[in-house]
Amino acid sequence: MKYYVMTLFPEMVSEGLHTSILGRAMDAGIISLETVNIRDYSEDKHRHVDDYPYGGGAGMVMAPGPIARTYDAILEKRNKPDRPRVIYLTPWGKVFKQEDAKELAKEDDLVFLCGHYEGVDERVLEEIVTDYYSIGDYVLSGGELPAMVMIDAISRMVPGVLTNEESGDAESFENSLLEYPQYTRPEEWNGRTVPEVLLSGNHKKIAEWRTERSIDRTMQYRPELMEQAVLDKKAGKYYKERLKNSEE
Ligand code: SAM
Repeated sequence: MKYYVMTLFPEMVSEGLHTSILGRAMDAGIISLETVNIRDYSEDKHRHVDDYPYGGGAGMVMAPGPIARTYDAILEKRNKPDRPRVIYLTPWGKVFKQEDAKELAKEDDLVFLCGHYEGVDERVLEEIVTDYYSIGDYVLSGGELPAMVMIDAISRMVPGVLTNEESGDAESFENSLLEYPQYTRPEEWNGRTVPEVLLSGNHKKIAEWRTERSIDRTMQYRPELMEQAVLDKKAGKYYKERLKNSEE
């Protein structure tokens, strides 16, 4: 997987992502990241990339020219016949979910466009962007953090990035359930003990306990996810009982 990021703050993206699991995956050549500074493609003698909005209003808008030239430079570096998927990070985009991370991880490469100021001239978005994503219902100062969030989540779904021990199979949102509570040593901490079943060595019982705790947690924090959860007979029975109890 190769990521290209069009940004005004390339160091923020490259330094932020070159750590921990992603840093290791980059060093191993499983994923790679190329940040391209939009300012390098300004033709203005002061290297401006923004201008006042037509129609008035607060703030500045990123001009189409420098972004289009940045994109052309990426196409040239990429040197492939097809057009890549280009993701514009924006608060009005589709809210990014784990299922999107899985789907995007199937691509060979992805291009991200990070906005700044009040946003980007609509015409260049119409020309180059294929996908619009938001990372949540709030407004950030720029698209760099959202791009980093998406690249992190997508990379975890790229084969070889996670080791077997780090596998994403039992993480939150797998099968629409949130993850069960986790414990490590010591067995007793601050007067609180680890649930006994986890010390039992009985893998079937542990799996059942974890599914039930996942159901409890999902019902408490994200009840709307339960509609898509696929539960086996035993878990389904547990869920129905919990629902009945909560309605009483
Ligand atoms: N005026 C824009 C609006 O109301 O939709 C907000 C612009 S914001 C200050 C600057 C840039 O940050 C946006 O162009 C976008 O790239 C990025 N951004 C801000 N919040 C975001 C979010 N929740 N998800 C994705 N990108 C976001």
